[in-house]
Amino acid sequence: MTDTTTSEPPVTEAGREVAIEVHDLCYSYRKKDALNGVTFQVHTGEIHGFVGPNGAGKTTTLKILATLLQPQPGKGTARVYGMDVDQERRFVRERIAYMPDHFSAYRQMTVHEFLDFFAAAYGLSLAQRDVVIHDVLRLTDLVGRRDEFVKSLSRGMQQRLGLARVLVNDPDLLLLDEPASGLDPRARIELMEILQELSGMGKTIFISSHILSELSDLCDSFTIIDQGKVRLNGSKAELAALGTRISEYVLELESPCPGLRDALGGVGVECEAREGETRWLVRFERELVSTGVVLGAVLAAGADPVSFQQNLTGLKQAFMELTTPGVD
Ligand code: ATP
Repeated sequence: MTDTTTSEPPVTEAGREVAIEVHDLCYSYRKKDALNGVTFQVHTGEIHGFVGPNGAGKTTTLKILATLLQPQPGKGTARVYGMDVDQERRFVRERIAYMPDHFSAYRQMTVHEFLDFFAAAYGLSLAQRDVVIHDVLRLTDLVGRRDEFVKSLSRGMQQRLGLARVLVNDPDLLLLDEPASGLDPRARIELMEILQELSGMGKTIFISSHILSELSDLCDSFTIIDQGKVRLNGSKAELAALGTRISEYVLELESPCPGLRDALGGVGVECEAREGETRWLVRFERELVSTGVVLGAVLAAGADPVSFQQNLTGLKQAFMELTTPGVD
C-alpha cells in the first residue's frame, strides 16, 4: 500500500467523472473462473444496476471493489475514483461502503449500540457519533427503533439497519450486494426510496440484483454480467435503444383452453402456464414468428382471448437476451 495518493478521479471525453473503472478483470477460485475479462465504468452520482443471474460474478466483482478480495496479479485492474483497489486500498476504503448480501447484525445489541459500535470503529468521537447516528437513523427511517434489539427487527428493518451501518463513515460510493433480497414489496419500495434520497445527496450507488423490474425504475445506468463476462454497460437510454430479439406477451383467456400449448408449440411459441389456467406467458423470436401468427394459433385452438399484451421491456428484455439460463 502507498502512503499517499495523487490519483484524481478520471474524467470521460464527455467530461463526466468516473467513480468505478474495471478493466479486463479476471478472477478464479482454484480452477473455477468467476470473472472472465470484466470491463465496465460507472459515473459519479449515478445509481448503477449490476445485474446478472446466479453465479454470474456479481459478488466476486463487488468484493474486489470493496477491497475484500485481492485482484490476482496481471489479471486486470479495478479502480475507484482513480485509485487502484489493490495498491491504494486504504484510500479506497475511506470513500466506499460495502453492504454484503448476507451480513451478521449483532442481534443482542440495540440499534443504537450496533451503530455506535461501527461508528467508533471508524474513529468517530462520542459527540460525532451522536450526530451521525441520529442522521443515519433518520435517513433509514429507524429513529423510532433506536432502543430496540436488533433481533426484534423485521427483515426489512434489518436491511435498513445494514444500510445505516455503512453510512456512518459518510461514503461517496455505496456498494450494495442484493440489498432487497428477501424483502416484501413494501420493504423493497421503502429501500428504493432511501436509495433515491441518498442519490439525491450526491452519493454514487452500485447495486447488484437479479430482480430486474425494481432496478429498471431506480437506476440511471446498468451493467449486465453473465458467466463472468459483461454483456452490456451503458445508460438507461442505451438500453432502451437495444434491438430486441425475443418478444414476450401475456395472454389472458376467458376460460381454459385444452390443446393451446400444442397449438402454440406448432408455430414455434414457448409458453409458461398449466393447462387449465387462463393466464399464459408466451415467448417467441420476433424475426421468426409474427404476433399475427401467434394470435391466429390462439384462435385456431378455440381459445377465447381477453387480452394479449407485451410483457418485457427495457432492462428485463435485455437481460433475457443477453444472459443464458441455468448458470451454476
Ligand atoms: P449470486 O447471484 O448467486 O450471488 P453472483 O453473481 O454473485 O451469484 P459469484 O458469487 O461472484 O456470483 O460467483 C461467481 C462464480 O464463482 C460462481 O460460479 C460461484 O460458484 C463461484 N464462487 C464464488 N465464490 C466461490 C468460492 N469461495 N469458492 C469457489 N467458487 C466460488
